[in-house]
Amino acid sequence: MDTQQERIAQGLAAIRTRRRAYLAILFSFFPVLVAVMAAIRRTTLWWLILLPIGQFLVGMVVQHRLHRSRCPRCQDFFFVQVVTPQAYTPASSISFPPQRRCQHCGLVLYR
Ligand SMILES: [Zn+2]
Repeated sequence: MDTQQERIAQGLAAIRTRRRAYLAILFSFFPVLVAVMAAIRRTTLWWLILLPIGQFLVGMVVQHRLHRSRCPRCQDFFFVQVVTPQAYTPASSISFPPQRRCQHCGLVLYR
């Protein structure tokens, strides 16, 4: 029983870390973009644009890893919603913003 709870706690900690990394990239994207555009205008160092482009690409990888996270309790995808013919929407395969509970068994990320 203890090992089961430890395994769930470790799985949730890993998902929390990925979710935090994704949200940090997401919310810092536009401030970084504005700062880089202002710097390019001041200095004409055009290659600074590679910074937000790289941030965007890293964000895509982190988002992909986040959405592949499996729930440590039910082993189903944590963020991917249950898709039924009645509940289907074009965004059913993603969770944006990432939810705080498992979309299948309701396991809560933060207690
Ligand atoms: Zn679950």
